[in-house]
Amino acid sequence: MPYCFACGGKLEWRLVESEQRDRLVCTRCGRITYLDPKVAACTIPVIGGRVLLARRGIEPGLGLWVFPGGYVERGETVPQAAERETFEEVRLRVRATRPVGVYSYPDSVVVVVVYHCDVVGGEPARGTETQEVRLFGRDEIPWDRLAFPSTRDALRDFVTQWPGG
Ligand SMILES: [Zn+2]
Repeated sequence: MPYCFACGGKLEWRLVESEQRDRLVCTRCGRITYLDPKVAACTIPVIGGRVLLARRGIEPGLGLWVFPGGYVERGETVPQAAERETFEEVRLRVRATRPVGVYSYPDSVVVVVVYHCDVVGGEPARGTETQEVRLFGRDEIPWDRLAFPSTRDALRDFVTQWPGG
């Protein structure tokens, strides 16, 4: 992130008095480049009473399990992103319904929004960034092989809201 998007000048970390924070400031035009959080949108599909998880084929979390999801693009809503990413990763058409929760951590730039969803079409299959997809019953979730803290925390919340009890 070495250059200003406005003028191409070099950026440097500098204390901005009015904000009482170090910011990336352009050494040429003085504009601040804000490092905003990124938003990821996910779903937890349920088929036949079991949740669908995917084993990641890319870093971070290579070889570990996660529910489908990915980054929200500008020009789409958060639930739309969750639905799009779910199709890209596990080939399921879903309709995002209500949130399971929103997960964020001081040492991570990602805010993760996780949705319950209705499966409306498709057959589970692996996308290009996925090694394997598998269904897990409530007592089969691989707690010690989950990819991210948000995966663990959202599944923990999901289990307490498990459809049908
Ligand atoms: Zn500049």
